[in-house]
Amino acid sequence: MLDLDKRAIVYLPGVGPKKADILAKEAGITSYEDLLYYFPYRYVDRSRFYRVAEINNAMPYIQLKGKILSFDTFGDGRSRRLVARFTDGTGVIDLVWFKGLAFVKDKYVLNKEYIVFGKPVEFANTYSIPHPDIDPLDQAAQVAGGLTPFYNTTEKMKKSFLNSKAIQNLQFTLLKSLNWEIPESLPSYLLDRIRMMPLSEAIKNIHFPESSEQLSKAQLRLKFDELFFIQLNTLRIASLRKHKLKGLVFSQVGEMFNTFYRDYLPFELTGAQKRVVREMRMDMGSGRQMNRLLQGDVGSGKTLVALLLMLLAVDNRYQACMMAPTEILATQHYATIMDFLKDMPVRVALLTGSTRKKERERILPGIASGEIQIVIGTHALIEETVIFSALGLSIIDEQHRFGVEQRARLWTKNSVVPHVLVMTATPIPRTLAMTLYGDLDVSVINELPPGRKPVKTLHRYDTKKKQLYDFLRKEIQQGRQVYVVYPLIEGSEKLDYKNLEEGFEVFKEIFPEYYVCMVHGKMKAAEKETEMQKFVSGKAQILLATTVIEVGVNVPNASVMVIESAERFGLSQLHQLRGRVGRGAEQSYCVLVTSYKLSNDTRKRLEIMVNTTDGFEIAEADLRLRGYGDLEGTQQSGEGLSLRIANLASDGQILQYARDIANEVLDKDPGMKDISNRILNEHLKKIFWKGKNWGMIS
Ligand code: ADP
Ligand code: MG
Repeated sequence: MLDLDKRAIVYLPGVGPKKADILAKEAGITSYEDLLYYFPYRYVDRSRFYRVAEINNAMPYIQLKGKILSFDTFGDGRSRRLVARFTDGTGVIDLVWFKGLAFVKDKYVLNKEYIVFGKPVEFANTYSIPHPDIDPLDQAAQVAGGLTPFYNTTEKMKKSFLNSKAIQNLQFTLLKSLNWEIPESLPSYLLDRIRMMPLSEAIKNIHFPESSEQLSKAQLRLKFDELFFIQLNTLRIASLRKHKLKGLVFSQVGEMFNTFYRDYLPFELTGAQKRVVREMRMDMGSGRQMNRLLQGDVGSGKTLVALLLMLLAVDNRYQACMMAPTEILATQHYATIMDFLKDMPVRVALLTGSTRKKERERILPGIASGEIQIVIGTHALIEETVIFSALGLSIIDEQHRFGVEQRARLWTKNSVVPHVLVMTATPIPRTLAMTLYGDLDVSVINELPPGRKPVKTLHRYDTKKKQLYDFLRKEIQQGRQVYVVYPLIEGSEKLDYKNLEEGFEVFKEIFPEYYVCMVHGKMKAAEKETEMQKFVSGKAQILLATTVIEVGVNVPNASVMVIESAERFGLSQLHQLRGRVGRGAEQSYCVLVTSYKLSNDTRKRLEIMVNTTDGFEIAEADLRLRGYGDLEGTQQSGEGLSLRIANLASDGQILQYARDIANEVLDKDPGMKDISNRILNEHLKKIFWKGKNWGMIS
């Protein structure tokens, strides 16, 4: 057994303690295996040679063949540089080094044939190539091949002579010492089934492509591996859960549910609401534990769905709880639900961080005895002092604000695991949902309640502020309220607050007749709540904020969302912010304010916002424009995926295939006990032991 993951990189010839340290810190490479899985981020075709005479401004990396005529050193101190005059017979160009001068001068000799590789830059009408790669012509053959890989390297890595080329050399040393053989990760029956390149071949070709066809095959195999093991892991856990965890059986639809549905429902449910309630009733009656993600755009009516399900729990003599990420939200949910229930004989309590001691002393025993049937709250719900008599259903609203741990704690509170429903307004593209929440069943509310007027979205340049203020005044005069949001610029917080605070002064001056309030992330929680409350209650007409505007806050009377420096926001974020308005019967507006100069990408983003209000369409577009890494919801939850090679935006088909194959494996051998699957088990252990366990995310 090779155990490449246990062999420390420090022992690889050419590494040593100092470089090992840099590799670990800068690139996360600590073992032989880490190095092999440090893939190039792009390849450059080195099969073609250019001539010095044809060098021009617009050239990418190029390759020249020729000799060094002379070496000269110029300048002092920081501007000290070594210049080699290089010719291929068609002209002369300078090769320039600012670092490692002595080393370079020793290494290369005059009048010997070299292959030079680099990017020409122009300065004062002459071209030079800074820090080129140089190989003697005879050695070049084995290095150059056709496609040269480029590895990500940081400044610190480069300073320690760990540039892209050096990484490639390390790969070469390592692979050669392994005889270009590494242990296969898939059993042979699967390899036959999927008909892809063996792992050894793939690793070899990803670092040293024999041709572009071989490279594509290698990429396919490695993407498949990456996605397959994630899927296998999540699906296996899901199936373990299904077989092992007996679910509480909500066998009856009883009086509470029926009475509420018949007599108290203030409006007809939308078709989508009906459908998801039905899906979840089936889940909870099946004898298996429910683990479901409910996606529904802002305003799609998730709260009502949650209430119906909680009533179902009560009908079956269980308690239900609903946890929200902030106090304002929890309080709002409580008020909404009390309002829905009116005089129905259901006992509901609110428990948050600021619930007074006396009140707590009343509530906690009530929860413990089962007298209180529904509890709405914040993190306070997962404190150890909160003990349920018979918790049957846990609902988590706006899940991305909760950490994995917190969520897990909520349902380990019982000896029997309650049904779990996670609700989110963040539209997650299918591919991402499959990867992040592969073990959750997904329900989608894809329909808004009738009569909603879609929010009108406008794009305005910040040179036209006066018209904007006039428009806001008109809206406020009609009794509406206005949000104005400023971006948070990472790394320059001071500037943000300056923008926000200046804005605050401007708005107070322009709207002296109205109450303007302000919230931002630096405020204490209590202070934030107070200011927010002024807006919720209608006392303040204008609310200025950084992006802390609470997810899910419902102020139906607010009809205008102004987003300052909208070019600084991502699509999903813009959509979330826009979702704060359009909750009442009035026509609502979202105004995206930007400077005049915009990049193409930004224009595209703004165009999408102006043209559609469909959250899923926007999420897909976001994924396409930005890639999965930046996608909201993954970052905020702190469980962002670190895929090495697969790309969720473009590899959806491979993902689906990997999932199908994983399902096939588990269908045939649910416990993965067969000897032929041993290798899969070992591989899973290796991957998911040390790192995050994606499968347990819900
Ligand atoms: P979200 O899915 O964003 O949590 P809410 O549950 O806050 O949405 O619902 C948004 C608004 O729509 C609330 O005022 C709610 O009362 C209302 N609503 C929910 N369902 C319906 C429906 N079927 N018909 C009309 N209005 C509805
Ligand atoms: Mg909500």
